[in-house]
Amino acid sequence: MRSTKIVATIGPASREPEVLERMIAAGMDVARLNFAHGTPEQHAETAQAIRDAAGRAGREVAILGDLPGPKLRLGPVAGGVAELGRGTRVVLTAREVEGTAERLSVAWRGFPELVDEGDVCYLADGAVRLRVDGVTDGEVVTKVEVGGSVASRQGLNLPNVTVSLPAVSDEDIALMDAGLDMGLDLFALSFVRRREDLDPVREHLRGRGVEAPLIAKIEKPQAAANGDEIIDAADGIMIARGDLGIELPIEEVPLVQKRLLAVAGRRAKPTITATQMLESMVHSSRPTRAEVTDVANAIFDGTDAVMLSQETAVGRHPILAVEMMASIAETTERELPYGRWLGERGPQASNQYHAIAFGAVGAVYQLGLKCIVSPTNTGTTARLISAYRPKAPVLALSPRRDVVRHCQLLWGVHPQVHDEPLDTLDLIESCGEAACRAGFARKGDKIGITAGLPAGRAGGTNLFKVHTVE
Ligand code: PEP
Repeated sequence: MRSTKIVATIGPASREPEVLERMIAAGMDVARLNFAHGTPEQHAETAQAIRDAAGRAGREVAILGDLPGPKLRLGPVAGGVAELGRGTRVVLTAREVEGTAERLSVAWRGFPELVDEGDVCYLADGAVRLRVDGVTDGEVVTKVEVGGSVASRQGLNLPNVTVSLPAVSDEDIALMDAGLDMGLDLFALSFVRRREDLDPVREHLRGRGVEAPLIAKIEKPQAAANGDEIIDAADGIMIARGDLGIELPIEEVPLVQKRLLAVAGRRAKPTITATQMLESMVHSSRPTRAEVTDVANAIFDGTDAVMLSQETAVGRHPILAVEMMASIAETTERELPYGRWLGERGPQASNQYHAIAFGAVGAVYQLGLKCIVSPTNTGTTARLISAYRPKAPVLALSPRRDVVRHCQLLWGVHPQVHDEPLDTLDLIESCGEAACRAGFARKGDKIGITAGLPAGRAGGTNLFKVHTVE
């Protein structure tokens, strides 16, 4: 039984019904739609295909809409791709032109004012490096220091420049609206710099009456520096190592990953570690030893979820990549420092919710509980229990399908839609039955139950019961 969650990006390699169904069977918990690519219509079709495949598989798969945020991008390139040769001159212009190897447009009107002579611009995920020679007639003249191919709409990174783009553009809001119309469950915002960057998205969600969790992507040096306050303001973070490794010296990426995963763990905020985790599987049916070790190390660092990007979006082996993630996670989980985490992470606050979550996880070790069953209206108790990392599954039962899907991101939590209990006796009996049905316990086993009593009435968790299954 696996506790680490798997997020898989859906793209041309994985949007067919049969592939989606097999990815779900292999362990995909959250499907990610990257709104930086494709059209809202394409994403709507994909979202429907994911829902249909999850329905056939009998599982609730969450769908995460990843909003592009303030990223500088190239405009269209003639033929889709241009080859930039080392030592050649390339002009970057804010004018709307069809890009060539000599002249590329940047989709931001103020671009020429952002850079000075000597600045470095990275293209193609950092693979292509340009050095600014000067700015003339509102256009930026650069020399190619490291050549390679660049494609339409690809991102452009200026590591040393503080770009004053709005944190959330009208395009992001429009994409979010499209995502909400598709019924997406979670949203991620790219290129967050400060906690306030999340406010417009939050307000918009509130305005639409939706409680979707908001994940802040950490991929700017400012976000790494402001990590603590961003973690407090967000519902979770993604260590987006692709852009982070361009914006920061690449060798600092592991430090940011380790530090922020630890901070988020101590604040019970779920985390996703992303990008190039099994990169070689874009082409190969087997990952490298280093990739396998990277996935395992992210789990040792305390990540809730590991993410596949290109591997499942455009790779040749999307199903094998999910299977590989699942087996690395299951194997790694045999030797995680569960007891140490419980000590380091908690108790996090002096309130009944943390007291019950912390106590329940402690009881797993003291009493050998087979699982913790947690009826939940909002998912909060399941999230707190998950943060203390029990070495036993957490069965989260909720009458709310949206809450069940939100819980899919939480380490060790197995969420299910479940009727609201009629009374306290019904609650306890149905928790025992649900644990047996899920295969987590058998007659005579001890399990933990958290609940908000009186049952059937809205209210916070206020009870922890050690229950022997009858
Ligand atoms: C990343 O940069 O690592 C990332 C996950 O973001 P995107 O895929 O949007 O580039």
